[in-house]
Amino acid sequence: MVDFQSVLNGIGITATKATDRGRIASYIPELEKIDLQKFGIHLINIKQHSFSSGDSDERFSIQSISKVFTLSMALGLIGEKLWERVDVEPSGDPFNHLSLLEMENGIPRNPLINPGAIVVADILVSILDNPKDDFLAFIRNLADDDSINYDEEVAQSEKMTGYRNYAAANLLKSYKNLTNDVDSVLDFYFHQCSISMSCAQLANAFYMFINNGNCRRNNTQLSKGQVKRINALMLTCGFYDEAGEFAFEVGLPGKSGVGGGIVALLPNEFCVATWSPGLNEKGNSKLGMLALERLTTQTELSIF
Ligand code: GLU
Repeated sequence: MVDFQSVLNGIGITATKATDRGRIASYIPELEKIDLQKFGIHLINIKQHSFSSGDSDERFSIQSISKVFTLSMALGLIGEKLWERVDVEPSGDPFNHLSLLEMENGIPRNPLINPGAIVVADILVSILDNPKDDFLAFIRNLADDDSINYDEEVAQSEKMTGYRNYAAANLLKSYKNLTNDVDSVLDFYFHQCSISMSCAQLANAFYMFINNGNCRRNNTQLSKGQVKRINALMLTCGFYDEAGEFAFEVGLPGKSGVGGGIVALLPNEFCVATWSPGLNEKGNSKLGMLALERLTTQTELSIF
């Protein structure tokens, strides 16, 4: 059996010594306050044994990792109809790129780039009675942890500076791919991105993607087919315009966020979350990617 704890210990030591740690995202002012020295990693295997190193219990802003949760909730609620409003192709573009949206008549390339996630947010705002409360309850159930919450300061901070997301939402509206008004959809979107979770909570919440759609509370959230599709989207679209590099180096489906978190998983084996707030030039956590490359290389465990 693989000794995950000693691999994570080694990764933690290397991360502590790293001098080139990337740059913290500054376009959301509240994120700039985070300490660049932070690093955490937490892995949970299919038997629900946990292994961790560093700041794995410290909460951070999950940002775009939340797109996997909204997609899961929306797919569970409306099923295949979702694909009428958003495509499933990698974009090869940064997360907030807009020109493709115009070229493709308001159908976002995939649900993990901002315009796609804004359409998914619109679907949830339409269906849910209390969108923010219901979505939070969904994540708490997945993670089996009722302490998870929104970070109002981060949500407000992004609302003040989210010019490109307002542009994307208005473009979607002009193509009639947004049912609700721009402000209420973006209020939901900024809140979903603001959720604070630790590596441990994220790995626990992603457990259903390695366990055929059954989360840790042992209730079924998604069918096997839906899990297959979300895992495929994470592999092809989960890392902005660096999805190819992540597949090449790490070899796992996953999702990153500009808060410096990454979650990655090997179906039926393990899921792992890392956090280091410094990003590389593509917007993915610099040390997080190195840590995951080391994990899959040393354990020889990847989907390939
Ligand atoms: N809230 C961020 C934005 O929309 C999320 C970006 C990310 O994590 O990729 O700009």
